[in-house]
Amino acid sequence: MKIHEYQAKELFEAQGIPVPSGDVATTPEQARDIAEKVGKAVMVKAQVHVGGRGKAGGVKYCATPEDAYDKASQILGMDIKGLTVKKVLVTEAVEIETESYVGIILDRAEKKPVMMVSPAGGIDIEEVARKTPEKIFKHHIDPILGMQMHEARNLAYRLYDDPKLVNQAAKIIQKVYETYMANDSSLAEINPLITTPDGRVLAIDAKINIDDNGLERHPEIEAMRDLEAEDASEMEAKKAGLSFVKLEGNIGCIVNGAGLAMATMDLVKHFGGEPANFLDIGGSSNPEKVLNAMRIILRDSNVKAILFNIFGGITRCDDVANGIVSAVRELNPQVPIVIRLTGTNETEARKILEAVKLTAVSSMEDVVKTAIDKAGIAA
Ligand code: GDP
Ligand code: MN
Repeated sequence: MKIHEYQAKELFEAQGIPVPSGDVATTPEQARDIAEKVGKAVMVKAQVHVGGRGKAGGVKYCATPEDAYDKASQILGMDIKGLTVKKVLVTEAVEIETESYVGIILDRAEKKPVMMVSPAGGIDIEEVARKTPEKIFKHHIDPILGMQMHEARNLAYRLYDDPKLVNQAAKIIQKVYETYMANDSSLAEINPLITTPDGRVLAIDAKINIDDNGLERHPEIEAMRDLEAEDASEMEAKKAGLSFVKLEGNIGCIVNGAGLAMATMDLVKHFGGEPANFLDIGGSSNPEKVLNAMRIILRDSNVKAILFNIFGGITRCDDVANGIVSAVRELNPQVPIVIRLTGTNETEARKILEAVKLTAVSSMEDVVKTAIDKAGIAA
């Protein structure tokens, strides 16, 4: 689960990481009031679940409360990478001397969290990793021992020479680890961690992703869920009883069973394609689910082919075929559909599919290769 910057800052602040003061607003009037309370220049910052807001014009400096009103009017309603801004953070503007990066994720291969720091902060860290990987410093943390102060200090020395800054940064780095662990996060990041001309170290941006499987232990974080900011297709899928995760590729995948869905995505990648989504229609074989799945996938204009992979067990192939037929009739998809189905009522299913001139194969490998070919041609 993703949370907003202002919420991530609350979690960081709760562990003792210094952040500039501020509050969240949904109207320009509220933004002006907050700016008045802060009593100095502020930043108005779009709260959307995506990075690069600064570049997109979603982070603006405001000298006065009136200015905050104007900038909030501009930013509220703005579209940033397909997301509409519904909230802004109004926060004390600080003078910046240096910008660094601090972030922690789980390294699955090492089975340990890995803390990363870089003096090249403020910019997209993926870009730093691509162009100047030598500017990123990594350190794995033993989850039993936790992050020791000397480990945090070693990393802090990669950012600053001045011991006064190092001391502050080391504490912050250790607390980033603690925030990450305490909240069952999958990622916790400060970009940028800044220094001010008067020698303070502050987090002026914050990003925390929570592991959905840990949410049961954190009702206070579950309560932070912003339904309006979540991916519309993922929300719609949830309502329709489908497990769906949107991805960046061009092959829409409709599969029964999470394991088979993962295997399908692996095979798509193996043969050089990119899945547009993970989608598990579940074990039951309600044709309605197929229709909903198709509707959600077709809304993504990246999708150049739809790949069905159905293994009939409790799921009956004829039910899925009926779903495909009604989806084709109702939605009139403009992208090729390729189908693999095998198992319960497979023969009936093939007959049903003839009604919309579709055929199905029984080899998973064949269907994946065909999907990649067709997506390539369509693209
Ligand atoms: P992002 O673009 O979504 O990562 O949003 P950030 O919160 O990181 O802001 C982008 C950039 O705006 C930062 O890297 C800073 O350079 C600048 N910025 C943000 N807050 C302040 C501030 O209080 N003062 C100054 N001078 N610049 C800021
Ligand atoms: Mn940032």
